Amino acid sequence: MTPRVLLSPPDVGPLEESYVLDALRSGWVAPAGPHLEAFEREVAERVGCGHAVALASGTAGLHLALLAVGAGPGDVVVVPTLTFVATANAAVYTGAEPVFVDCDPATGNVDPDLLHELLRELRTLGRRVAAVLPVDMFGTCADYSRILPICADAEVPVVEDAAEALGATHHGRAAGSFGRAGVLSFNGNKIITTSGGGMLLSDDADLIARCRHLSTQARQPVPHYEHVEVGYNYRLSNVLAALGRAQLHRLDDIVARRRWLREQYAKLFAAVPGVRLLADGDWEANCWLTTVVVDPAVAGWRAADLAAHLAAQDIETRPVWKPMHLQPVFGGARALLTGAAERLFTDGLTLPSGYAMTESQLARVLDGIEQFLKSR
Ligand SMILES: *Cc1c(COP(=O)(O)O)cnc(C)c1O
Repeated sequence: MTPRVLLSPPDVGPLEESYVLDALRSGWVAPAGPHLEAFEREVAERVGCGHAVALASGTAGLHLALLAVGAGPGDVVVVPTLTFVATANAAVYTGAEPVFVDCDPATGNVDPDLLHELLRELRTLGRRVAAVLPVDMFGTCADYSRILPICADAEVPVVEDAAEALGATHHGRAAGSFGRAGVLSFNGNKIITTSGGGMLLSDDADLIARCRHLSTQARQPVPHYEHVEVGYNYRLSNVLAALGRAQLHRLDDIVARRRWLREQYAKLFAAVPGVRLLADGDWEANCWLTTVVVDPAVAGWRAADLAAHLAAQDIETRPVWKPMHLQPVFGGARALLTGAAERLFTDGLTLPSGYAMTESQLARVLDGIEQFLKSR
């Protein structure tokens, strides 16, 4: 029985073991300690941001970042419709209303022209937009060369959801560094992992200090437990920060491997009519997940057909995110749409992209795809 090929499983080994053991033996088995401080410093350095706070999840980072830029009841937060639900949920946690915007079909990232139009529309309606929350889809940076000036003109802060994008760059600048604040995720399936965790980054020391305060139950700096506002328990454990430091050491290697995997898929699909890769040709991406997009009218088959064929061979694939405006929980939400996200949802398929995929597993995946193509 050959083991199942997974989409993007975590990969931990002796380096992670030694870091975690060190944390355990040090006695710092708490959401405080030297690994936590070092992890914050090292990630901030890597991303090129002045300050960072390590958190229990990327979602917590998005929530705190939105609170820090002043999002609250009555406000709008502009969110891509093509994203993981956490992006939209974070807006809702603050009491703000998420308003969805469609994507550029080439990358799946926010369409800057639509964003511009939506911000104008919201201004005409007299709505206060507390933040724009671009997502760096599957590790490809959104088009910040265009998004940042549009948001600056509208005087709306950008919070970058770089949950999937550590290690990616846009014109040489690192993912996570583009907004007033940027958020990374270290969930188990992400580019590097702390099993669960996240980080909030910013050049604004006050913003990070504020979020750090909110992440520790907003406890006042006095000997007894004094609270003048409601906070959250959002800190990362020192033990998990140790795991994160080991993974961070391996980041370049992990990204190189995932880029190489994308190249193999690119070669295989290059001559197949009606099939393209999402964000094809962007080698600044960290290539966290590689996605094929199938035009059924040209290809003569659907993404779901390939998914079924691979599933029968114990190879995991997954559809692209189901757009937020189609989610029952956000039914009736305001949205500016072109249909691009919906088409990516039906026509896109995410392929196994994990660092630890062995040569023989990769051969199985590529053979499986070739067999499928021949049978058509
Ligand atoms: C994973 C992810 C998050 C949430 O991160 P968690 O650490 O799982 O809370 C947010 N946004 C996007 C786009 C993600 O992929």
